[in-house]
Amino acid sequence: MSESSIVAIANQKGGVGKTTTAINLGAALAISGHKTILIDLDPQGNASTGLGIEADQRKRTVYDLLAGPETLQDCAQPTSIKNLLIVPATSDLSSADVELAQAENRTRLLRQKLSQAEAGTIILIDCPPALGLLTLNAMVASDAVLVPLQAEFYALEGLSQLLTTVKHVRQTGNPNLRINGILLTMSDNRNNLSQQVEADARATLGDLVFPTVIPRNVRVSEAPSHSKPVILYDPSSKGSAAYEQFAKEFAQRLKLVPENA
Ligand code: ADP
Ligand code: MG
Repeated sequence: MSESSIVAIANQKGGVGKTTTAINLGAALAISGHKTILIDLDPQGNASTGLGIEADQRKRTVYDLLAGPETLQDCAQPTSIKNLLIVPATSDLSSADVELAQAENRTRLLRQKLSQAEAGTIILIDCPPALGLLTLNAMVASDAVLVPLQAEFYALEGLSQLLTTVKHVRQTGNPNLRINGILLTMSDNRNNLSQQVEADARATLGDLVFPTVIPRNVRVSEAPSHSKPVILYDPSSKGSAAYEQFAKEFAQRLKLVPENA
């Protein structure tokens, strides 16, 4: 693999599984040998916390990357997982929207910095729950967008707004941006509604929807308080198995060659 692959994990709705997906996909790719950098682009810093990077360990953050002279290499710090680096976030990122609004090139700040990535690196961007300047920066910087969609009633309605934003980004600066897939999350197979939403999503969006569906699983929600992805916290859980399987499908779509094969 020559170039880096940059994927924004985006959905303007909160609580749909963006951060959980970023952490577990990042960990699974890293464990299978891919050099991976997770960019925590949410001022809440949940991806940083979930990987055990405490507030006092966040010396160089994504805010510095966006607004300062720091390089990607300056800001990416190790996690407890080999091959997985993170650019952490702190709450000072919440003022970035306003502070950067006047900057020339304000939607291309992240793209400029991520172009410094070493060849072969996979970069996953955990976006905040909004389609503002931060998510725009992520989409302008990315090759593809991965959309976690919670299997619930209004899920598909929010999607059209997201797709409009992707179209806008294609027209205004990143013509190659593609949707690399939609991941159904927090599905409850005892619940008819989850199954209905899955059927609707597959009927409307076809192959864009990943074959694997992530089930609602309590081990997934417990893992962050143990500072671990669920695939390490409880590898025998259903949530872990689903994220492992999804990571393989994702790697296939990105045409990644397994590093340790
Ligand atoms: P987002 O980043 O889109 O806001 P999160 O990944 O933080 O969403 O998930 C929202 C909440 O749901 C978190 O508390 C998380 O632990 C929980 N959660 C996410 N995925 C699952 C799942 N498959 N099963 C159970 N809980 C989940
Ligand atoms: Mg999040």
